[in-house]
Amino acid sequence: TNVLPAVDTIATPSLENPVRLNFNENALGMSPNAQKAAISAVNKANRYAKAEIPLLSQSLAKHHNLSPEYILLTAGSSEGIRSSIAAWSGENTQFVIPELTYGDGEQFANIFNLPITKIPSLKDWAFDIDSFRAAVDQYPGRSIVYLVNPNNPTSTIAPTAQIIEWIRSKPKDTIFIVDEAYAEFVNDPNFQSVDTLIEQGYDNIVLLKTFSKIHAMAGLRVGYVLASPNNIKNISQFVAGEKLNYCGVCAALASMEDADFLAYSKQTTDTSRQIMEQVLDELGFYYLPSQTNFIFHQIGTDLAQYQQLLQDKHIFVGRAFPPADRWNRISLGTPGEMLYTANVLRQLRSQNLI
Ligand code: PLP
Repeated sequence: TNVLPAVDTIATPSLENPVRLNFNENALGMSPNAQKAAISAVNKANRYAKAEIPLLSQSLAKHHNLSPEYILLTAGSSEGIRSSIAAWSGENTQFVIPELTYGDGEQFANIFNLPITKIPSLKDWAFDIDSFRAAVDQYPGRSIVYLVNPNNPTSTIAPTAQIIEWIRSKPKDTIFIVDEAYAEFVNDPNFQSVDTLIEQGYDNIVLLKTFSKIHAMAGLRVGYVLASPNNIKNISQFVAGEKLNYCGVCAALASMEDADFLAYSKQTTDTSRQIMEQVLDELGFYYLPSQTNFIFHQIGTDLAQYQQLLQDKHIFVGRAFPPADRWNRISLGTPGEMLYTANVLRQLRSQNLI
């Protein structure tokens, strides 16, 4: 159907048209079918998406082998993070996270006045599940554990078997919020989604998913929560109602049906990753094994300086992620954008600037 190129050619980046490798967006643009669906939805957007919302829930339920009562549609997964933290917040509730992870969880937990327990990481920022377990066991009240898998900014997967064993052990008064925003990019066969645990009836897990990444729909704001029907009822008290963006819902429905685009989205990300890994190898920059649409790599200079050198060439790369000093998160753009970026990095190296 849609013939899409393996490697694109790009115009030379400029101030008006930079290469954006700073927000883990999907540079491909949406599926052409999703674009058409969104555009035609504009003409109906004076109405609420009453008919389409249940269709999207059904499509997602089918995708996960569950029934629609297990699904709550949200405005991106951000709303899922916020509402699920809200649903379990209260007195004597700690929010447990690894020391290096996606910041929204901590930000929302702060709004709800939860004490934050940060678990120090192992080598290469790996999750220390034994320390997580100890922090939860020692806490006298409730624990909300927020795990991003694969993690952001590290791009690595969590020790899945250990996490699943921990969830199955049902630690007292503990809810696991598992954010799988990047799961569709994973190549490592050791990765496992926790959706199967929800299917098996575990009610101590909330799984968060998004259309922002593999579906390339970040600006249309569609995500969803997957959890037991009781947990969905609880969380739904903290969203503004399932009144989603009409264009987003229609685009998401079309995108779910576009297996060709989803495969293409994954393949081009794999190609972009290879291009980036090759230049990082060549320049001797250490990086973590990426299972996502971004790479976390070490740099030899100050991050602000590194960012500026690239920005001067109209390439935006990731921000600082304390406590990871002298690391940079670079999002994977199109293969053409990565070839361009790789050449800029080579050039900067030849000038001894990086
Ligand atoms: N979760 C993770 C791990 C993310 O990296 C992001 C965005 O970068 C989000 C959630 C939020 O994305 P959205 O609200 O667009 O689904």
